[in-house]
Amino acid sequence: MNIIEWDEGLADDAAAAPIRIITGHVVSPTRDRGRTIDLEHGGIAVQGDRILAVGPAGEVLDKYPSASVEAHGDRLVVPGFVDCHAHYSQMTMIASPGLQLLEWLKNYTFPAEGLFADRSHCAAMANFFTDQLVAHGVTSACVYATVHPESARALFRAARSKSLRIMTGKVCMDRNAPDYLLDTPEQAYEQSLELLEEWHGVDRLEYALTPRFAPTSSSRQLELLGRIAEEHPDIPIQTHLSENPSECEWVGELFPDESDYTAVYERFGLVRKRSVFGHATHVSESELDRLGAAQASLAHCPTSNLFLGSGLFRLKENRRAPGLRIGLGSDVGAGTSLSPLASLNEAYKVSRSVGEPLESFEALRLATLDGAEALGTDHAVGSLEPGKEADVVVLDPESTPVLRQRTDYAQTTEELLFAMMLLGDDRAVHSVYVAGAKVR
Ligand SMILES: [Zn+2]
Repeated sequence: MNIIEWDEGLADDAAAAPIRIITGHVVSPTRDRGRTIDLEHGGIAVQGDRILAVGPAGEVLDKYPSASVEAHGDRLVVPGFVDCHAHYSQMTMIASPGLQLLEWLKNYTFPAEGLFADRSHCAAMANFFTDQLVAHGVTSACVYATVHPESARALFRAARSKSLRIMTGKVCMDRNAPDYLLDTPEQAYEQSLELLEEWHGVDRLEYALTPRFAPTSSSRQLELLGRIAEEHPDIPIQTHLSENPSECEWVGELFPDESDYTAVYERFGLVRKRSVFGHATHVSESELDRLGAAQASLAHCPTSNLFLGSGLFRLKENRRAPGLRIGLGSDVGAGTSLSPLASLNEAYKVSRSVGEPLESFEALRLATLDGAEALGTDHAVGSLEPGKEADVVVLDPESTPVLRQRTDYAQTTEELLFAMMLLGDDRAVHSVYVAGAKVR
């Protein structure tokens, strides 16, 4: 390919910023689903927070002769990863053993979330979590806070200080959880609205309306949250859907008038573009069709689904529903790693188990541009295309002896990427650029 440049260019003040060129083996999905950028000696020109141009390194260097150069040799230069589903409140109980979803929530998750009543715990965990996102190459994420408004505020503050593209929201739950984690329908409404007004659209932050899942919200609470959704048609919404068979059965008992789990959210106006449903491992064809027709999104969380034994997500089959968007989620703390490479490792195994193996470029896309599409931010991030925000991750194929040995023998970029995803983790993350700034 030849160099591609950004036609529009930066506004005057930003156009004075120095231009830098990142060189290496550039691999990125593009908006054209069938086309992947794969430049063994590639270069990306960055100015301010934006990508100005991408192309063969020689051409990019010729185009901007006075630019400074950050040369990464054979390392892979890929878009910043997008995590569509994580709980920052669960870092203290990740890898808690032996139970399925509902017991696991009761025994481990709820006590861990109770600690967020303390402001200083919120701040400490928000800093730790955002540091770890960067360390794992994640530059965008959609994250659950806890029922405490301060937990969302702390995450917004920490994310803002690191310029990360974060969506989060106070979790709303007014039943079927310990008293110390319950709000009321009115509190959920008022606190969500207050946080939305405070934080939505500040820098790279967005407020995500966050009912935990149908079993922990009364109809009245979902109705009030639906009202906020109606008044703010562009904000993201995040919740869980059909993760585990006992959960699905329970939803049937709690909402006997609805035909299925998705219908509960539909009834309250919570199924639409930028609604991100975690898991969806047990959805019917009719539900998939309706989710697709609404342009809603699913977060595929393979490490979590395998860890809790929840079920196997059928990625390719689900993709056939027109309009449906699907991204990748860590679902930490039910997920076992914040590393998108580790999630792709398990996504590959799940895809094999359901008979439709994931290919390398498709996997990279799932962890980047597909995720951005699922979150409704693909206009800004998810690929290394000119005009986008410069969220860039540099992966080192020699980060461990086994990886070095294997990648030395890789014949193609597909093989190289495949080895990175099966054998790599946060140790493979060599450098991270967030909105153009090198932060690692
Ligand atoms: Zn979750």
